[in-house]
Amino acid sequence: MSEQVTCKCGNVVTVEGERSWCTKCGQPVYTDPKKQRRHKWNSLYLTVLFIGTITFLVYIYLELVSKFWVVE
Ligand SMILES: [Zn+2]
Repeated sequence: MSEQVTCKCGNVVTVEGERSWCTKCGQPVYTDPKKQRRHKWNSLYLTVLFIGTITFLVYIYLELVSKFWVVE
């Protein structure tokens, strides 16, 4: 089962099954637009998770550094 789907960049991609990658821009192309939206939310979730992790690590780092630097 393959379908012709037009990517956001305008390139027509033949999608086998549910998902394929655009040969032009490298973005995932879905036959179902709902899945495309879900991918968008997933990316957002991952971005938030990533920023959260970085913030947490920076906090831990600063905490350790401040402990290290405070000399009584
Ligand atoms: Zn594309």
